[in-house]
Amino acid sequence: MDRREILALYEWAPGNCFRCARTDTPTTHLDELDPPAGGHYEARVCEECVLELEDERRRYAERVGSEYKPGRLGPGEA
Ligand SMILES: [Zn+2]
Repeated sequence: MDRREILALYEWAPGNCFRCARTDTPTTHLDELDPPAGGHYEARVCEECVLELEDERRRYAERVGSEYKPGRLGPGEA
């Protein structure tokens, strides 16, 4: 599976990446955060960060011997 196929598993909209601080770039919704200080924060990540996170999940799956399935980043993921 190449990076284009992985990116196609997510929905993209212009936004700011909370992980690498890139702004006005295609982002996908990763998680919703409710900080203790109050308010509501929508965590979005850019294409590069999604690929990095997917790569981490793939390596982790290989290490623990479980099956890697891309496209599963988001709420509920460790
Ligand atoms: Zn990023």
